[in-house]
Amino acid sequence: MPIPQVVWFKRDLRTQDHTALQAALSQGATLALYVLEPHLWEQPTASLRHWQLLREAVGNLAIELQRAGGELCVRVGAIEQVLSELHLQFGSFHLHAHEETGEAWTYARDQRVAQWCSQHGVQFSEHRNFGVFRGLKDRDGWARRWRSHMQAHVAPVTQPNWLSAVSTADWQTWQPRVSGEPITITPGLDPQRQLDDFLQHRGERYHLEMSSPNTAPTACSRLSTLLATGRLSMRQVVQQTWATQAQVKSLAPEQKGTWPRALAAFQSRLHWHCHFIQKFESEPAIESQNMARSCDGLRENDFNEGHFEAWCKGETGFPFVDACMRYLNATGWINFRMRAMLVSFASYDLWLHWRRPALHLARLFADYEPGIHFSQTQMQSGTTGINTLRIYNPIKQSTDQDPDGHFIRTWVPELAGLSAPMIHTPWLATQLEQIAAGCRIGQDYPAPIVDHAVASRSARAKFSAVRASAAGKTDRNSIVARHGSRKGGSRR
Ligand SMILES: Cc1cc2nc3c(=O)[nH]c(=O)nc-3n(C[C@H](O)[C@H](O)[C@H](O)COP(=O)(O)OP(=O)(O)OC[C@H]3O[C@@H](n4cnc5c(N)ncnc54)[C@H](O)[C@@H]3O)c2cc1C
Repeated sequence: MPIPQVVWFKRDLRTQDHTALQAALSQGATLALYVLEPHLWEQPTASLRHWQLLREAVGNLAIELQRAGGELCVRVGAIEQVLSELHLQFGSFHLHAHEETGEAWTYARDQRVAQWCSQHGVQFSEHRNFGVFRGLKDRDGWARRWRSHMQAHVAPVTQPNWLSAVSTADWQTWQPRVSGEPITITPGLDPQRQLDDFLQHRGERYHLEMSSPNTAPTACSRLSTLLATGRLSMRQVVQQTWATQAQVKSLAPEQKGTWPRALAAFQSRLHWHCHFIQKFESEPAIESQNMARSCDGLRENDFNEGHFEAWCKGETGFPFVDACMRYLNATGWINFRMRAMLVSFASYDLWLHWRRPALHLARLFADYEPGIHFSQTQMQSGTTGINTLRIYNPIKQSTDQDPDGHFIRTWVPELAGLSAPMIHTPWLATQLEQIAAGCRIGQDYPAPIVDHAVASRSARAKFSAVRASAAGKTDRNSIVARHGSRKGGSRR
């Protein structure tokens, strides 16, 4: 009798290019399983918007499976408990899942699953999901491995054979205890259509318009949430991007427009996705501790609660910073440059240790992906020890990315009566100008909570001292060896 196969879906909620599902189906009758784990939703990064998206994604997966003749078994509870229930129903089985590069909680949970399987004589196969590799000691040869992972073809199974098991009766109405503001999500959004739309229409000015929050929402692919929930496979995105690049290459020069540069810029971002997750895979401790330990103690004791609260609420007195935070609060997404600026402002201007700002942003980002998130947050706050300190000037960003103040006026309506250039630095407006604009600084809108020039000078000096120290230099060498990109796949 062939042994039953069980596919445990996690952050890979799709049927296309799903290595674990294909492996299971090719070996026998398969049960598709999703487990709603109450403890997962108690983690400090969980929020209501993640739950909204997860519910939508699980619902879509159930529909996709139905179309393929199968059904999704959804259980509520601890995974070991659910596995024990399935063991009672099926006897021994073969469990398949994708490798997950997750937070400490999911890592420990996966280890418990492996232990449960070995204790119960259940085979547990973990399959690679992204171009991220387990057990790497350094980055030599990483780019080559990434490419070969992305080139692989996962053939769909033509005649799938399914098993079924009852779902927990009330899973459709089950609700975790999560907080935060809800966001508007588009039900029934088709991931493939979103990708096609970007690669065929929206993406032509990607590299030119990705940096401003006025243009980025349509110029960027907006695939991140689909990738984070796994509704779309990264390999599928990479392969389709390569195919589009090949098509564009064959066009006459006058037909190419700005597509070649747009697609090259996009393709490098897809590479970064796995590059950053690989850092987290190789060093999961960066979820809670500085990548460069020479930075320990630099900010930890200076945490200013009032400044943190002002930053979270979008009330720092810096209009562009506040507009970005309020937009993110309302929508669950913002473009890369503005994410970097928000972290830079918290880290250098407000001198906040990155951990609590990182958790706050994780709850706000609909596309929260731990591997990218913690690696990027540490990079933007200077604690990787290897990257150039990038201290964003919030006023320069404002005049560069929102020159006429349209974005600020939309998201900080208190300032709507001010025209550009005054809107970028309202504290410089005279009393009369403030009254005419209907906004008195310090009453209707806060005065800046810090002086950017003073704060950034002080932050730069403190970091320079750490990096010049013996500990800083030792950190640098070991971090480059472990995490530094090897451009072109060359060895160190
Ligand atoms: C502090 C900080 C935290 C971040 N946290 C997350 C996160 O939790 N989840 C997340 O998906 N992205 C994160 N990013 C990276 C980036 O901002 C988002 O991937 C991007 O804005 C998502 O929008 P998009 O899908 O339209 O991206 P596009 O610009 O269209 O890029 C396509 C895809 O490439 C990848 N990508 C793009 N930029 C980056 C980058 N700089 N680093 C790594 N991968 C990238 C993403 O998978 C993205 O979906 C973070 C960046 C910063 C500075």
